[in-house]
Amino acid sequence: MSLKIDNLHASIPGREILRGFTLEVKPGEVHAIMGPNGSGKSTLSKVLCGHEDYEVNSGSITMDGVDILEMEVDERSRAGLFLAFQYPFEIPGVSNANFIRAALQARLPKGDELDAVGYYKKLYQRMDQLEMNRSFTSRSVNEGFSGGEKKRNEILQMMMLEPKYVVMDETDSGLDIDALKVVSRGVNAMRSEERGFLVITHYQRLLDYIKPDIVHVMVDGRIVHSGGPELALELEAKGYEWAREELAAAV
Ligand code: ADP
Ligand code: MG
Ligand code: MG
Repeated sequence: MSLKIDNLHASIPGREILRGFTLEVKPGEVHAIMGPNGSGKSTLSKVLCGHEDYEVNSGSITMDGVDILEMEVDERSRAGLFLAFQYPFEIPGVSNANFIRAALQARLPKGDELDAVGYYKKLYQRMDQLEMNRSFTSRSVNEGFSGGEKKRNEILQMMMLEPKYVVMDETDSGLDIDALKVVSRGVNAMRSEERGFLVITHYQRLLDYIKPDIVHVMVDGRIVHSGGPELALELEAKGYEWAREELAAAV
């Protein structure tokens, strides 16, 4: 059981961005990926979701042994993969409550109907945990939301869908400290032995609130070093040039 990325090479026309990326996240684990701007972190999250801009040239991604590269975007999601993006998408005309409800309905066996009362009860409970105003339910998905509201909304989606593997790309960017605490609390509430997390961040700050088990340093499209939580502090102190020069030289 794991989300396993093995020797992945992925590119945009004329340029390879992921260059031998390997990582395995098991249920119960929280992994963090840190790296300088341009190292390919967002590309990794987009390839995981199946974004059409990126071509996988070689390597594999499996989820509990199943090849996800052959799956469509929504199939990956239904199979238990959740991605929170650096720049969350907007869906004009679709309310938040209906969006999440439809996503949950799509996960049920054919013919089964989602229990509406139970759904709203759980939705409100999660929204309270995230200190979200009830008006969010009727607003269109992410439309006109501030950066912080979008991030909160993504965590709400994650809490409702209860995915098996969660990938978060710079969920901390654009958040003030109060929003960061709320978002982290939501994530921490979802940590469990049945769920694996991959937390991608440029800054160490997020990892003060979401404590990772393992920290990886990504440079030029691959992991050049892995260590415990203390590695995040070391990176913060020494800077990414150190990672680029000292760590990348070692592989
Ligand atoms: P990070 O998230 O680590 O900052 P990205 O994955 O966003 O890095 O980008 C890695 C490199 O690939 C950057 O130089 C970026 O400009 C380039 N890149 C990524 N996606 C595209 C794209 N769709 N078109 C052109 N260049 C891209
Ligand atoms: Mg970037
Ligand atoms: Mg990025």
